[in-house]
Amino acid sequence: MPSVPVVTPPTVAIAGSAERFPVRRIFCVGQNYAEHAREMGSDPDRAPPFFFAKPADAVVASGTTLVFPSRTEDLHHEVELVVALGGGGRDIPVEDAAATIFGWTVGLDLTRRDLQAAAKTAGRPWDMAKGFDASAPIGALRPGMPPTSGAITLDIDGQRRQAGDLSDMIWSVAEIIATLSTYVALAPGDLIFTGTPAGVGPIRRGETVTGAIAGGAAVAVSFAG
Ligand code: MN
Repeated sequence: MPSVPVVTPPTVAIAGSAERFPVRRIFCVGQNYAEHAREMGSDPDRAPPFFFAKPADAVVASGTTLVFPSRTEDLHHEVELVVALGGGGRDIPVEDAAATIFGWTVGLDLTRRDLQAAAKTAGRPWDMAKGFDASAPIGALRPGMPPTSGAITLDIDGQRRQAGDLSDMIWSVAEIIATLSTYVALAPGDLIFTGTPAGVGPIRRGETVTGAIAGGAAVAVSFAG
């Protein structure tokens, strides 16, 4: 028999700690800010949130220089509040959701927008548009409860491209956890990307992308030229 491979889970840095957070799964929420829903051609009513996923090893540490992704000529940035779970469960009541949270940070839901548009038109899955290698750059986790208001921004080479406020989220973090837990049993190590404000747009080779949330969370990655 060939030797069995040794596989270790991807991890994320924890601010102020030498320990690292093991990533089990990455879930993402679509269109959770009204202005972004409109720019994507949707009506931002309070239809229940919808979800997609990325592989756990899509996480990339802040400060990394990335090879520009293959199979796209329209790589888009989406800056998002990310919540990391230290607990879990099924059918979690909204009022119990906070108890499952380990911490939070800011992340980038990198998207091959051209492939996503083609998938939408054909009624096919989004996986190759959203779940590719290194598609989830993420800052160091801040232990504790995520802020419910405050600026969330994204700059490319120092120029502001996205700006929103966490208070503009259509679905709160607690509501997202509660709803997601009706689809899957949530568990320690799960990350949830909670949606992006308006202003999504293309990233080009050679550019540096910086995401931030007021309170100190930050993520920055550069793309090779
Ligand atoms: Mn997103």
